[in-house]
Amino acid sequence: MNNCVMCSTGLKFMNTPTFGAGKLSDGGIVCTSCYKKINNANPSVAFKLKKYTLQQVQEILQVKADENNSKNSKLDEIKTELKNLNLGNTSLFLGRKEINELPQILAEGEKINNVIQGTYNNGHGILVSTNRRLIFIDKGLIYGLKVEDFPLDKISSIQYETGLLLAKVKIHTSGNIAVIDNVEKTSARQFAEFVRNYISQPKEQQTVFVQNNGEPSILDQIEKLAKLKDNGILSEDEFTEQKKKLLEKL
Ligand SMILES: [Zn+2]
Repeated sequence: MNNCVMCSTGLKFMNTPTFGAGKLSDGGIVCTSCYKKINNANPSVAFKLKKYTLQQVQEILQVKADENNSKNSKLDEIKTELKNLNLGNTSLFLGRKEINELPQILAEGEKINNVIQGTYNNGHGILVSTNRRLIFIDKGLIYGLKVEDFPLDKISSIQYETGLLLAKVKIHTSGNIAVIDNVEKTSARQFAEFVRNYISQPKEQQTVFVQNNGEPSILDQIEKLAKLKDNGILSEDEFTEQKKKLLEKL
């Protein structure tokens, strides 16, 4: 009797893939459960398994496992960050399936600073505020994943309206208003106020990733001064004085 080359299980009729689908190019055979593993990792490899050696298949599975690990560790990191935000409603949204999508949605260095739950365009999901944008994420059973983002620099204002039990958060962008409905009242107020304060701050306070590249360098400024002197706008003394001040900053 043969054994599965991956897990060493004895191969019987019941656990051997049909039509020789479990055969590898170097002669080994995998059992149905290992075949399923390969198929989950990469269906096209499983489909043409007899073109691959055991080693190649194991490498493919390893790459997939590494990918999943890094995804999971990023997810753990995000969950810890969310808990540390002490939003009060954390336990309500932490179990939502949209949270699991965050590792793929967030960019490198993008940090979450607030989250609410609500409905938008008939989908129930979460509205996440980061240092770059607001993102509505809705993972439905039928339509799959829907993600819509509102970059902070496109948001002109954010408002909330409270009803009897629930509230609406309105995001105003140029010519558009996105309404997130059915939001828990306290969270809606906190979220809207937070984002409003955040976007009214000067850019350099919003994010530490922005480099101070808007300001001309000191040498550029001296060059400009020299032109002003050459054009007779500044006297020799005025130029020397301003130049000295700039050089002290270096
Ligand atoms: Zn096996």
